[in-house]
Amino acid sequence: MLPTKAYAAYSAGDLLKPFEFSRRTLGENDVAVEILYCGVCHSDIHQARGEWGNSTFPMVPGHEIVGRVLARGARAGRHAIGDLVGIGCFVDSCRSCSSCQEGEEQYCQGHISFTYNGTEQDQRTPTQGGYSSHIVVDERYALKVSPTLNLSAVAPLLCAGITTYSPLRHWKVGKGDRLGILGLGGLGHMGVKFGVAFGAEVTVISTSPKKKADAERLGAHDFLVLNDDEAVSKAAEKFDYIIDTVSAEHDMNRVLNLIRRDGTLIVVGVPPKAPEIHPFSLIPRRRRIAGSMIGGLRETQEMLDYCAEHDIVSDVEVISIADINTAYERMIRGDVRYRFVIDAKTLK
Ligand code: NAP
Ligand code: ZN
Ligand code: ZN
Repeated sequence: MLPTKAYAAYSAGDLLKPFEFSRRTLGENDVAVEILYCGVCHSDIHQARGEWGNSTFPMVPGHEIVGRVLARGARAGRHAIGDLVGIGCFVDSCRSCSSCQEGEEQYCQGHISFTYNGTEQDQRTPTQGGYSSHIVVDERYALKVSPTLNLSAVAPLLCAGITTYSPLRHWKVGKGDRLGILGLGGLGHMGVKFGVAFGAEVTVISTSPKKKADAERLGAHDFLVLNDDEAVSKAAEKFDYIIDTVSAEHDMNRVLNLIRRDGTLIVVGVPPKAPEIHPFSLIPRRRRIAGSMIGGLRETQEMLDYCAEHDIVSDVEVISIADINTAYERMIRGDVRYRFVIDAKTLK
């Protein structure tokens, strides 16, 4: 058993506080990892606050983990001791369903073990996430991280990065496509970077006019203020694709009207309240709404390698664990540029 220091939500209404527990004894296929950095995703807030109605407590959030291998089991040979690894939103899956067989483990039809607020494959033992000093995982669910990039800025790739990379690859978004990124937060700013890298014409669609300069710096070609009626009506039917990364209630009909005939709204944001969509937002232009969830192991590794090759990382503000509750408040206000990342040294 590996003694582990962490921060946890003890109940939905409470602030996160220190929490100590033990990680499992190293299994023969496991690696024990000393966590270096963990990104702060809005999904952490939704779940720590019980906003999705599926929360179990105490909960140690965090699924954007970069760390170093400390020890490995007798049959674990993928990573050497001292290697850098990344752990994202799931730490195991059934391995036998068609999704797992096809490398789309995130859509496992058996039991997926989410990194926290989930259970191991026994469907009983709770999982705990990356706001912690150590983690033990099956080596297959730990990905290789290049030492050439800034590690604190790599951590958010494990969720914000792959969640925007995967749909852009799936729908083959690139040159000749007009892509809108709705919401310039953690996911949104990675969506801009990937969209630009893949050759799309990228517009940031935001409720925060003051983010315009940042959007340009990130490489976006245009900026649209979602609450500006005149600008929104001018942009009607402009986009082939919009990725909706918004974490709070918003009018999806207004967003759908920005999409051209046969275009697609790709929903990745998960506001607590379900949106109301009018059929007339879809029917007259044969528009589609699709969803997408993170990415599989193979694709997440491909994304990490792509980022190392093209020097793509997240824009981060590194925080001490003691600042986590303030960071949550700032994210809810949209005041983050563009991902908070916990320095795990501050847990020790
Ligand atoms: P974030 O950093 O807090 O960014 C969310 C952005 O949404 C904000 O920066 C803001 O951008 C915009 N926004 C906030 N409130 C809004 C409102 N009322 N109306 C319109 N826009 C609003 O969050 P994140 O970490 O990127 O996560 C975004 C969402 O994706 C969350 O719901 C999260 O749970 C979900 N998520 C899904 C997946 C998946 O696999 N599908 C993976 C990770 C996260 P502007 O200031 O530019 O308007
Ligand atoms: Zn996430
Ligand atoms: Zn499966």
